[in-house]
Amino acid sequence: MTTNSRRQFIAKSAALAAAPLLASAVYGQAPARKLGVALCGLGSLSTNQIAPALQKTRNCRLAGIVTGTPAKAAEWQKKYGLPATSVYTYDTMHEMAKNKDIDIVYVVTPNALHMRDTLAAAAAGKHVFCEKPLEISVERCQKMIDACKKAGTMLGVGYRLQFEANNQECVRLAREKVLGDVKVIDANFGFAMGDPTQWRLKRELAGGGSLMDVGIYCLQTTCMITGEEPAWISAVETKTDAVKFKEVDETISWQTKFPSGIVANCVSTYAANGLMGFRVATSRGFFGLEPAYFYNGNRGKRSDGPEINIPVADQFATELDDFADCIINKRATKVPGEMGLRDVKLLMAIYDSIKKGRPVSLA
Ligand code: NAD
Repeated sequence: MTTNSRRQFIAKSAALAAAPLLASAVYGQAPARKLGVALCGLGSLSTNQIAPALQKTRNCRLAGIVTGTPAKAAEWQKKYGLPATSVYTYDTMHEMAKNKDIDIVYVVTPNALHMRDTLAAAAAGKHVFCEKPLEISVERCQKMIDACKKAGTMLGVGYRLQFEANNQECVRLAREKVLGDVKVIDANFGFAMGDPTQWRLKRELAGGGSLMDVGIYCLQTTCMITGEEPAWISAVETKTDAVKFKEVDETISWQTKFPSGIVANCVSTYAANGLMGFRVATSRGFFGLEPAYFYNGNRGKRSDGPEINIPVADQFATELDDFADCIINKRATKVPGEMGLRDVKLLMAIYDSIKKGRPVSLA
């Protein structure tokens, strides 16, 4: 699967999605001023998802770009009517301090560049919304949190499913014990990786493989559904292509036990398509989503009958509107840097368990 086909894979259910609601329906009055967002890294996600989503937001607007490619800068300026004064390179981001049009920098570069770009944005006095995973080590995540704290700006993580109605309906079913107590969770996400030269296969830029990229969604599911953090984690790794996955993990299977006794079984893979959902077994039945992790069309079942299929707004527009609303109304975000750090800590515990060949206690 090429980078392109990864995008198509995750987006392919768009045609099946119900008519999207306006993200703005979630919030009351329009703000006096839309917050300006600068997109840092103009790759696939920025081009195909985030920039179009910004056109649908109520609280934000595309106000700048950061890119190392002059041709892309010219193309984006023309397409989105951006002035030359709102175009930056990774080396000139400090000049954003003078640009009152930019309030938020959305960091969409490869995982191991998130810290570099976050630190530059924070030093320029900007709020930062950063793609997942927050970074590739706990220490680097902490530096990002500290930098935003020092700058007095907010740091949020692009956990779009924290704002997706079908995923959140499952959280409600769990919390309200609609089908009894949650007992066991199965969550899986993967795709067959294409282009062997891409940064996702380079440890230095990705930090890890399928686990860092898509396993993190399953980890989020298990923490969201339980409302808890794992007490221990046990993991194994399998490689069927040692050349392609020389630097990063191909397939990881892990088990977690939560303090209440809930257990979870998860798989992340770069070796196969077809894993894209979760199922929650409860004391009186089950519920779950498949797909659960796509940009559109997430839907599922519950054992007592009704389908889970709530029409949703663009997930990127919704998460950005919420982040801007947090800034405007000075409220805490649901997806703070600390949550990103927690998850990276858990990802590292999974790698640690693989290395040690035994379960790792997190208590
Ligand atoms: P991509 O490869 O399509 O884009 C990466 C961008 O970073 C490119 O514009 C590239 O030019 C730029 N870049 C800057 N310095 C670079 C360097 N040294 N090496 C390589 N590229 C460099 O990747 P993407 O799919 O857009 O992913 C970007 C980030 O977004 C990642 O952190 C990824 O995990 C995350 N992501 C999140 C979702 C989601 O659903 N939330 C989906 C896809 C990607």
